[in-house]
Formats: sequence, structure tokens, C-alpha cells
Amino acid sequence: MTSRSPLFPPASPLSFPCDTHTHTSRCGHAGGADKAYVEAAIAQGLAAIAVTDHVPLYWLPPDRDDPTLAMAADELPRYVDAVLALKARYADRIEVLLGLEADYVAGHEETLARLLDAYPFDVVLGSVHWLDGWWVDAPSSVERYRRGAVEVERIWDAYAGQVMAAARSGLFDVLSHLDLAKKFGFRPGRPFAGRQAELVAAVAAAGCAVELSSAGRRKPVGEDYPAPDLVQELAGAGVPFVLSSDAHAPAEVGWGFAELAAAARAAGVGEVVVFRGRRGRRAALAPAG
Ligand code: ZN
Ligand code: FE
Ligand code: FE
Ligand code: ZN
Repeated sequence: MTSRSPLFPPASPLSFPCDTHTHTSRCGHAGGADKAYVEAAIAQGLAAIAVTDHVPLYWLPPDRDDPTLAMAADELPRYVDAVLALKARYADRIEVLLGLEADYVAGHEETLARLLDAYPFDVVLGSVHWLDGWWVDAPSSVERYRRGAVEVERIWDAYAGQVMAAARSGLFDVLSHLDLAKKFGFRPGRPFAGRQAELVAAVAAAGCAVELSSAGRRKPVGEDYPAPDLVQELAGAGVPFVLSSDAHAPAEVGWGFAELAAAARAAGVGEVVVFRGRRGRRAALAPAG
């Protein structure tokens, strides 16, 4: 019996290999039932969807837990079971991948490595949201960016350093929202405060993929992650890409993928990578025929 939701339009003939970054209501700031994300992916004509909810705040003491940012530590096994159940339930209609969006926090690599080893993840996204005790992308952090150009340079410099450390850590398959510090529209004088070439080289050397994410277009900056010039430089360095919506609602699954694909093609990229069992396989960006 099929149960395709009537809420979504029929699958487009132009389909995409995978949405590599989606959330669930467990994080406390996303909505919709797990299966609604999968049904949306089917309706969008996607071949696969990776469920990549936020890792528990493993680097903070338990009293700093915040149920509006991530699932609690004891929820993780149930999250994994639920996604594996979806994978089995939808196996004949779409590939559901078990993923996780994991914060990189310098000094806590061992803890994260143990956590990742405990479950059969298909794909692990590495994100730098936490920077020296504050959140790069929290609305409450905007006042920090407003302190002025010197502080904005300092933030981008520190952020670049942590993204490179995340790449080099070997913990991640994909680096998420690579230029996240632009979220509120505060840019340094030069990209990444002068460290963009260094960053591209570090990512390429580490062998991480980078996500082309439409989430930035839904944020104050109004621009996909990464910026077009950065996509160009990453592509030139041979860095592979994945497609991501960073959906926090079922309606955002596959959101903006036509534009993401166009940006990739403009940078000379005709393929993306789909991860299974933490190994990447190449897939055509727009399957022929
Ligand atoms: Zn989130
Ligand atoms: Fe994130
Ligand atoms: Fe996310
Ligand atoms: Zn994210």
C-alpha cells in the first residue's frame, strides 16, 4: 500500500540524488513528523534523504543542556533506532540515510569520536557553531557582530581556524554551511578575513566534501552557503560537494535545489557525492533522461 501524502506536488522529472542535511523535531527548533520529511523527499523526486539531526551538546556540562538546540544525550539511541526504522520502512521507495550534524569543538575530539563510533552512521556532517564559548549563528549573538569591523574580522579569523581544524580532525565526511559566519550579513574586508585560500587548501587536503546549502537563502544574508566565489575555488581544488537544504520543516526538504545545481554547474561541477556507510559515491547532479 502506498501512502504518498496529497500535501506535496507529484515528483518532478528533474530529480536529485540526495538531500544530505535535514533535521527532526528532536532538536527542539524543527517541526513535523520524521516520516513527513521522508514523504516530502519522495514527492520532490529525491533518490535519498539523510536525516542529520543535531548531536547532543556533548562538550558542555549537563547543566548547560538546552532542549531548544539539540536532543538530550539519552535521546541519541532512540533517534538512531527511529531513523533505522524509517530506512527499513521506506527501503522500496527512497533511501533513508542515518546521519548526524556534529559540532566540532577543539579539545573534545575524543568524546565525539567515541560517540560517532557507537552507531552505524551513513554520513556525519561537521559544523562549527560554537566558538570560544558562544554561538556563531544564534540570533542572540548579533550584538557581538555589531561591535564593529575589528570584531567582525576577529570572528571570521577565529571561525576560519575552527573550520580548518574540523577538516583536519578526520571526524567528518562533509563540512556544513562553510561560511556560516555570514548568516546575519556581517562580512570581513576580505573573504574569511584573508584566510580563504588557506581554508580551501585545508579542506581539499583533508578530503572532506562540502555542502551546497540553500539554508543561507532563508537567513538574513540571503545567499546560499558557500558564496559563489568560494564554490568556484573549492571546485577548482577538486573538493566534492553534496546538496543540502538544512530543512527544519518538511516543506524545506529539497528546497532551492535547482538553484544549487545551477551554481554547481556554473563552477564546472556536474556530480555530487552521496554517502553510505560513511563512504562517498559519485552521482550525476541531474540524471539524464
Ligand atoms: Zn538546527
Ligand atoms: Fe548547523
Ligand atoms: Fe542543520
Ligand atoms: Zn545546520
